[in-house]
Amino acid sequence: MNYKIKQSNIFIFLTLIGVLSIIGFVLIGFNGWKNLKDKTAEKDLKEFHKLFEEGKPYYTLDQANKIVRELIPKIEKIAGRKFNKIPEIRLINTKEFKKVLIRETDIKILNNSNRLIENKRNPFQIMVKLFYGIYGSRDHILYLLPKKIATILRLLKLDEKYGMDIVRITIAHELTHALQDQYLNLFNKRSELPGTEEVHAFSATIEGHAVFIEKEIGRQLGIDDFIIDLFPLADSAKMRFDNPKLIQMMTSDISWTSIYSQGEKFIAHHYKKGGNRLLWKILENPPIDTSMIVDPKTYSPKLYDYLNYNNILENLYNYNDHYKNHKFTYENTSLSKLDLSIMFRNIDFPQKSWIISKVQHYQFFSIYSYDTLLAQITFILLEDSQYTSQYISLREKFIQHNFQNIDSYINKDSWKDIYINKNCLDSIDFARQTSITLEVIDSSMNKIPKKNIHTVVGKKNMVIIHNDGAFNLTPCDIGNIFSKIFKRYQKAKNKKHQ
Ligand SMILES: [Zn+2]
Repeated sequence: MNYKIKQSNIFIFLTLIGVLSIIGFVLIGFNGWKNLKDKTAEKDLKEFHKLFEEGKPYYTLDQANKIVRELIPKIEKIAGRKFNKIPEIRLINTKEFKKVLIRETDIKILNNSNRLIENKRNPFQIMVKLFYGIYGSRDHILYLLPKKIATILRLLKLDEKYGMDIVRITIAHELTHALQDQYLNLFNKRSELPGTEEVHAFSATIEGHAVFIEKEIGRQLGIDDFIIDLFPLADSAKMRFDNPKLIQMMTSDISWTSIYSQGEKFIAHHYKKGGNRLLWKILENPPIDTSMIVDPKTYSPKLYDYLNYNNILENLYNYNDHYKNHKFTYENTSLSKLDLSIMFRNIDFPQKSWIISKVQHYQFFSIYSYDTLLAQITFILLEDSQYTSQYISLREKFIQHNFQNIDSYINKDSWKDIYINKNCLDSIDFARQTSITLEVIDSSMNKIPKKNIHTVVGKKNMVIIHNDGAFNLTPCDIGNIFSKIFKRYQKAKNKKHQ
């Protein structure tokens, strides 16, 4: 068996395993990790960027404005509402677009309850490449990227003559956001949202509505069905790329592609049920839970859960005790149910969607050195303690499934229950606990067992996962972290209910 681990394997592995990528780091070995930068990832990213090279501007500002004037009465008729004013159109390049996008997504950083402490891994690197229009919810300006049409035509292998169809459908999409904004104030509405779950549910509602309208416009304009069917373009499954790396990079960037396609189905369901009257009612009271997007008939306007989950995971452990003066980067964020259904998409498990629908909150805290994930603590809150054990089983199945892909690197007998010294835990009784020991092969082909790389415990309606690739925390350290989390959650909950 060949144990030598190549960097490229690591990269593929990282993408495959998603949130479990921590183990990928363990496999690289510990020597010199402090200055580690994934060279292969950088190379792939460069290749990836090249695929999105722009062409000449495909249309002028006058042409764009003419299309806007043609589309406005059509959109008003389909959506059942009138524009208060025609939005300003601006043509921009990728660099300017990046600024607009950061400004638009900044909401998370501004919003205290879902703050990214510091994120050097630029999540926009990939997203930036895929947009050719954006509506600015702060300045109410409709931005278009005319140089991107050539890119889209090339990537989708489409004849030049379809370019203008894509432009029309794109403008119809962004104009729909302008119309929504004039009635809902998108920026204010989004700023109120406390976490990823709510942001994704809201985004799926407004994006679904925009996709629904753009497609209807396409049909009214007599655009070929196969062009209309390509929308939403962000839906990677429909992307006709032949570059496997590209497809992989896109599918690894979870959730945001489904926001468009699932959102469209959600909107279509409610349009059929109650027409535009119901659609606008839903736009004003968007679902707060992505499980309602996935299963549209369960929609009901509910109140937000304003508990601050970020606080629960901050400053749990001083990682500089292990590596003095090293500058780590931290990220504290949450996953929506839509993210989870994508994360578990290849896992065969009884009643999977039902268990996912019982996840009330999924928060995780990550510790990075440069772009490399070193450790991660995850807090999962379930609706009731009866789901805890099932959720852990699903998670175990997920890990086993991912491990099959890296067969040669791990010891198959490494699944063991670990015993966390009860003294460290103030006599907490765990519903369930598991841990993994990996046998890592170092550069001189020695097998080194790495313990407690992945530790899962459940207590009441909570599941906590600790992934450690760099710090070799003791079971007692881990136990203390878990104990702190349980206490903090209980305290935050009690405070909220006072
Ligand atoms: Zn949109």
